[in-house]
Formats: sequence, structure tokens, C-alpha cells
Amino acid sequence: MSDRKPLILLVEDNEQNLELATYLLEEAGYEVAPARDARSVRAAFDGPAPSLVLMDMHLPGSDGLNLVRELRTRPDWKAVPVIALTAHAMRGDRERFLAGGCDDYIAKPVDTASFARQIAERLRAGRAGGTP
Ligand code: MN
Repeated sequence: MSDRKPLILLVEDNEQNLELATYLLEEAGYEVAPARDARSVRAAFDGPAPSLVLMDMHLPGSDGLNLVRELRTRPDWKAVPVIALTAHAMRGDRERFLAGGCDDYIAKPVDTASFARQIAERLRAGRAGGTP
């Protein structure tokens, strides 16, 4: 077993969504650090940066984009790719998420067939537009 599995911070307050995404990510060989609310996310910011963040845009205690803005102020986290997750995608959301510091966007419910591939592609590509 590799001791260098990429760590993914998975922010999701819906338990079923969290379980499904965790299952798919672990199956694909990632280590998952779950966070279910804004307080846990902010606690994670004080620790080591993960390889990638999956950020639910609708959370108790905060809008996901506010947390992404906070994340981008942390020197160690600036270059970490962030993928926004949302169940209620509206016209213009993608642009709003990208402008807010996210690098990609995945609609919920996640497509179980392509989810792990989307993560792998973003890990390979790094931040949208290149690492600052
Ligand atoms: Mn949510």
C-alpha cells in the first residue's frame, strides 16, 4: 500500500452525499478528510494543506464561497485546487464559483461513473489558469 495517497478535504453537510463521495474517492485511492460544517473547515485550515478540496457551496454556518475566500488567504492553501459542489446549479454559477477562487465545478448528485476521473483530471491540471 502506498503511504502517499493524495489527501482530499471533502466538505459536505449532507450525510448521504458525504458517504457516497467518500466511498468513490477511497475506491479511487484517495485519502478523505471529511468536514460537515464551516467550523470544521476552518479548523482544517490550521492544518496541512490537502491535495484538493471538494467544497459544498451550501453549508450550515457559511456560504461555501466565503470559505474558499478564507482558504485563499492561507499561504499553504493558495495553490490547492478547489472543486465546488452544488445541487442547485443556476445560470452563471460556474462563472461565480471560478471568480470566487474555485477551479472547477461538479453538480450534485455526482455522476458515480465520472466523479473519480474528474478529480484525477483536476489534480493533474492543478489550479485553473495555472498555479499562482
Ligand atoms: Mn450542503
